[in-house]
Amino acid sequence: MPCLFCRIASGEIPASKVYEDTDVLAFNDINPQAPLHVLIVPKRHIATTNDLTEADEALVGKLVRTAAAIAAQEGYGERGYRTVFNCNAEAGQTVFHVHLHLLAGRPLAWPPG
Ligand code: 5GP
Ligand code: ZN
Repeated sequence: MPCLFCRIASGEIPASKVYEDTDVLAFNDINPQAPLHVLIVPKRHIATTNDLTEADEALVGKLVRTAAAIAAQEGYGERGYRTVFNCNAEAGQTVFHVHLHLLAGRPLAWPPG
């Protein structure tokens, strides 16, 4: 059975889509932690950032550049935003399909919790 984000990427489960092309999909997080909280995912299943290979370098760049483009489009380019990949248990990864969190719209503390 495909994972949750594979099912969202295939359209089987609905999501509030922000951007889509042949390689990546961006959609609003169902439990937003900031006024803007978008997840940018590869359409192809990759479980964690530990599973990325050299062949995925352009794809990872596309995830990051898509996040930057959405942040700019939503008016947060100059104010600032945060991009996060959580990997495995101690980082709090709950969905094992690589996703880049894009958070913006409030001051984001550092260090994170
Ligand atoms: P993680 O904790 O793995 O880094 O992040 C998973 C994220 O996926 C969480 O922020 C969670 O709110 C979000 N999420 C979980 N299930 C769904 C869903 O069905 N739809 C959407 N849009 N987001 C989800
Ligand atoms: Zn998947």
